[in-house]
Amino acid sequence: MDLFKYAQGQTFPVGTLYLVATPIGNLADITIRSLHILLQVDGIACEDKRHSSSLLNAYGISKPLYAIHEHNEKSASQHIIEKLAQGERWAYISDAGTPGISDPGATLCNEVRGAGFSVVPLPGPCAVITAISAAGDFLNNSDGSFQFLGFLPTKAQQRDSMINFAANSKVASFFYEAPHRIEATLKAIAANIAPTQRVFVAKEITKIFEEITILPAEEINRWLGEVKSWQGEYVLGIEASPNKPTESAFDETTLAWIKAIDGEIGHKDLSEIISKVTGVPKKDAYKYLLDLKQS
Ligand code: SAM
Repeated sequence: MDLFKYAQGQTFPVGTLYLVATPIGNLADITIRSLHILLQVDGIACEDKRHSSSLLNAYGISKPLYAIHEHNEKSASQHIIEKLAQGERWAYISDAGTPGISDPGATLCNEVRGAGFSVVPLPGPCAVITAISAAGDFLNNSDGSFQFLGFLPTKAQQRDSMINFAANSKVASFFYEAPHRIEATLKAIAANIAPTQRVFVAKEITKIFEEITILPAEEINRWLGEVKSWQGEYVLGIEASPNKPTESAFDETTLAWIKAIDGEIGHKDLSEIISKVTGVPKKDAYKYLLDLKQS
């Protein structure tokens, strides 16, 4: 069966940048259309030439490679724009997954579009989306909605305020976290969220040691004692807040600025700001302000 015929039924204009998602572990997770495009293009821009040439070798693809990474994205984009201006087609691949998702790609996209050329994204693997597809009822108390907050900050204080923001959000929150920080981060989550609020841990998706764990915060510390190795890549999630906003829904800093501004502007505007910053629904923030006034 010639599966490539489905990809060939579409035109792939010249002077276009194709954003191609690559596997997040299992090399079989690349689409037929992605392979077709990688075979058609005149060159492939990538984060790391050594890494990408071994990936492309696995598919029998050999093309000129050009490095575009977080440190040269804007200036290196000009090279791709020159190639597109010559009527070439180029692809961009990151080290793994979808370009632009906690990976370079956004600046390249902007520069290429700004220069008047088209950018065509191809669907494919993405760690957070793959993880969420297996989250089951984890999104139920946010009616299926979620927010992706990228990598957690490395500094403990900023990380904890991000955890707090997620814990008080009306939607489920998902993050990426580095393996050497995962244990400390899970401890911080256990300490900062409601005991019954659930945490989602997806490890090594599509790889041999793939594991998905969902458990309430109150069980995290026991579970941490059972984990044999933290090696691997992780997606983390925090379930939507089970609470109506009360004093405990806001951290100390948030409470301090709410109290400082209260009285300076109307409750309607203030509840809108509180909602934007903390993720607490506007109507709940409004009710909290009323309670605050009466207390
Ligand atoms: N662009 C990628 C995507 O579409 O998912 C993400 C790149 S980001 C630099 C790498 C992070 O994604 C890792 O630190 C980890 O948090 C997550 N990740 C990547 N592959 C994964 C996998 N197989 N299992 C779990 N998490 C993964």
